[in-house]
Amino acid sequence: MNTLNSTHEPSLTSWIESANSKETDFPIQNLPFCVFQLLDQPPAIGVGIGDQILNLRTCAELGLLSDQFNDAASQTTLNAVMAMSPADRTLLRARLSELLANGTTADKSVIEKSLVFQANANLLMPCHVGDYTDFYASIYHATNVGTMFRPTNPLLPNYKHIPIGYHGRASSVVVSGTSFHRPVGQLSPTEEGGIPTRGPCKLLDYELEVAMFVAQGNELGNSISIADAEDHIFGMSLLNDWSARDIQKWEYQPLGPFLAKSFATTISPWIVTLEALAPFRCREFARPEGDPQPLDYLHSDENSSSGGVDMKLEVFLCSEKMNQQGIEPVKLSSGNFTNMYWTIAQLLTHHSSNGCNMQSGDMLGSGTVSGLTRDSRGSLLELTWDGASDNPVPGSQRTPITLPTGEERKFLGDGDEVILKGYCESDSHRRIGFGTCKGKILPAKVEA
Ligand code: MN
Repeated sequence: MNTLNSTHEPSLTSWIESANSKETDFPIQNLPFCVFQLLDQPPAIGVGIGDQILNLRTCAELGLLSDQFNDAASQTTLNAVMAMSPADRTLLRARLSELLANGTTADKSVIEKSLVFQANANLLMPCHVGDYTDFYASIYHATNVGTMFRPTNPLLPNYKHIPIGYHGRASSVVVSGTSFHRPVGQLSPTEEGGIPTRGPCKLLDYELEVAMFVAQGNELGNSISIADAEDHIFGMSLLNDWSARDIQKWEYQPLGPFLAKSFATTISPWIVTLEALAPFRCREFARPEGDPQPLDYLHSDENSSSGGVDMKLEVFLCSEKMNQQGIEPVKLSSGNFTNMYWTIAQLLTHHSSNGCNMQSGDMLGSGTVSGLTRDSRGSLLELTWDGASDNPVPGSQRTPITLPTGEERKFLGDGDEVILKGYCESDSHRRIGFGTCKGKILPAKVEA
C-alpha cells in the first residue's frame, strides 16, 4: 500500500481541467472517497476530482469498473469498499486514475455521465462508524495539558510506553457542516465539597485531530501485527473532537472523558486513502535520547523508517460577528502530523493487541495534534493556556485571542464556526488536500 506507482506520478494530469489547478485539494494523484447525495436521489459513493465528483454507482452501471467492484461501488456507505483486500483497493485506484487521466482509452462521453459538480452535491457521512476510539498521541499536547493540571509531573509514567486512548461515542460523529448546540452538563462546585451546578458549558473547545478508518478488520481474539497494520488502514480524514472542558474537569476522574466529548465529533467528508499518502510518508517521530523504545509488538524497522505522515494541519475560526461583517476566518494555529509520538500503525496494532476485533469503518482519532511551538497548539485550552481558569497555573501565559472584530476568545462562543484544513505537499510530488472540516456552535438548547 505504501509503495509509489503510476497513480502518484507528479506529471499525471486529468482531462477534468479543474483537477490540474495548483490550488485544488483534489488533483488526480489524490482520488479521495466520499458519500454524496443529489436532490431526490439515493446516496452514492463518489471520488473527488478537481471541483467534481465521480459517481461510482453510475460508473458500475455504465460498465466502467471491473465486475468485482460493482457491488461495493454501488453501496450507500464506504464500508464495503473499506473491507476490500489491499490488492483490490490498489486495483480500484489504478482504474479510477486510468478513467480520469488525460489520454484515457475509455470513452469520455460515457464517464461524463458519472460526473457531478461538488457544488451541487450534499456530502454525507462517508461510512457507518461502528466504533470510535480517540487517542492522545501528541506528546506536546499531553505535556501541555499535563502541565496545567500537574505542573511538576506533566507526563504520567505510562505515556512513552503505551498509546493512551479512550472509547469515544460513534453515534454522535457528524459530517462537516453539521451545526450542534452547546452542550449542557454538570459543572464542578465552585468550592471544595460544594454542590455542582448544571448549565450550558462555558469552556467549549475544539481539538484538531486526524481520523483513521479501519479497512479490513480482524477476528475477535486475533490481533493485527505492526507489520500488517497499514494494510488495515483505509485512509485518513480531518477530525474535530469538540470538548467541554468544564464538564470534563468535573467528570473525568477516574474513568476518563464521557459527556464532555460525546455531544459531537465532526469529520471531513473526504477520506484520503493511505495509498494516496504514499509520497508523504516519513520517519516516525524522533524520540529524544533517553526515551524508552517501544515494546517489540509496537516496533518494526519499516514503521520506524516510514511510519510517519508529513501532513500539514490548520485551524481557522469565524465568529458570528465576523461572518455578518464579511470578514474571512482567522487562522488560529498550524501543526504537522509528524509531531505525533505514536504512528498510525502503532495505534491500530495496540488497539487490537488484546484480541479486540476491529471492524471496517471503525474510526481512530489521533488525539490533538500539537507541536512544540505556541502557533502549533491544536486546542484553545493550549493556545490560551487554560484561559478561563479562575486559578491559573503558576507561570501560565493566559493569553486570550483577539479577533478582527475586537471580540476576545478564551474558549468558543455561540455562533463560532471552527474550520480545519489539511494538506500534504513536497517538492517532488503533487500537493494533495483533505478538504475542510467545519462545525458551528448553536446556543445551548436547554437552560438548566
Ligand atoms: Mn481528543
